[in-house]
Amino acid sequence: MSTSVMVIGAGPAGLQAASTLSHLGFDVTLVEQQDYLGGAVARHQYQVLMPDFSSGPELLSRLIERVDNDSHITVYTGTQVEEVSESHDIFTIKLSGANQKTLQSQAVVLATGFDHFNPARDGKYGYGLFPDVITGAELEEMFAKGPIRRPSNGEIPQSVAFIYCVGSRDRQVGNTYCSRVCCAVSAKQAIELREQLPKARISMFYMDVRTYGLWEDTLYWRSQEEAGVVYVKGRIAEVTEQHGRPVLKGEDTLVRGPFEWPFDLVVLAAGMEPSGGTREMADKFQVSLESHGFIKQAGAIHNASLTDHPGVFVAGAASGPKAIEDSISEGDVASLAVFEYLKAKVTL
Ligand SMILES: Cc1cc2nc3c(=O)[nH]c(=O)nc-3n(C[C@H](O)[C@H](O)[C@H](O)COP(=O)(O)OP(=O)(O)OC[C@H]3O[C@@H](n4cnc5c(N)ncnc54)[C@H](O)[C@@H]3O)c2cc1C
Ligand code: SF4
Repeated sequence: MSTSVMVIGAGPAGLQAASTLSHLGFDVTLVEQQDYLGGAVARHQYQVLMPDFSSGPELLSRLIERVDNDSHITVYTGTQVEEVSESHDIFTIKLSGANQKTLQSQAVVLATGFDHFNPARDGKYGYGLFPDVITGAELEEMFAKGPIRRPSNGEIPQSVAFIYCVGSRDRQVGNTYCSRVCCAVSAKQAIELREQLPKARISMFYMDVRTYGLWEDTLYWRSQEEAGVVYVKGRIAEVTEQHGRPVLKGEDTLVRGPFEWPFDLVVLAAGMEPSGGTREMADKFQVSLESHGFIKQAGAIHNASLTDHPGVFVAGAASGPKAIEDSISEGDVASLAVFEYLKAKVTL
């Protein structure tokens, strides 16, 4: 009997896991609820990726082609997991949606990713009220459609503000954690904007800048030294609108003075939250969540892909905010952990 593994979620982590599991000798079923593959990268049409400014579409086609051309991987899009039962370490999984069938799997990888924090939940930024207040994900979509214009009137923006930590590191909205990628993604976006808007004033409003590790030079310093981006340490109290332009009110915490500045376009660096699918699958496969609602990594430092349910593994942003490179690596880590787990049980 062949050994089959189900991967749920076809973002970067799930696509990588499916491919590596197949190389390790498993028959793989890849289940994706959307009718397309690629997760957030496809959903928001990331064109240029941080940290290395490589191409989002090229990365996606590489990941997707490997899965499409692999006869040991069956892909079900537009498909959800409806019911799960388990007996003698075998999962019986009932699928619904475009592919209604019941399958058996010896192991499962949850790669169900994240959702963007919706800034409308925190009224102070004027998101949803003022058309020129957008999220970082919406800016990615604008880059894909190009050129950058103010949503309100179609004009070229002459001033752009980024507000950091929207929906992250914020006790009031209930997300105390750092979303890890938004400082770096915002710096990357500011550098991209500079190419389109050579004369615009581009300002970043931050609490701390966390372009950690090797990203400090290529993103944080480059955005200032090559793209002329200005960083202002300050917390934004609210965004209002005057004469059809968003106005940022806050305090510069370095010079200790209040400010009230209008901008043509305001980009909210909205954080990452556990996706609805992540919570739902955690419940169906009976794995614990950590305190913020992401899937708990039971292996901690020892193995990032272990959950507290034997046979169920996790990869990518389902276990916490992370970048694509880490999500892809975790696809591999989870695959090797599946191999370790199953090699003791079956002949591969
Ligand atoms: C604005 C923004 C820009 C970013 N830009 C970059 C960048 O330039 N470089 C970088 O390294 N990182 C970037 N990131 C982070 C990047 O998006 C994530 O690292 C990456 O998408 C995580 O991949 P994933 O596969 O774990 O999750 P996701 O991309 O979220 O994919 C999860 C998939 O699982 C599916 N799914 C969920 N639940 C279910 C279910 N129950 N059943 C079936 N399918 C399900 C979803 O539909 C989705 O397709 C950015 C993040 C944001 C917020
Ligand atoms: S990565 Fe930066 S913007 Fe994102 S939550 Fe962390 S400190 Fe805030």
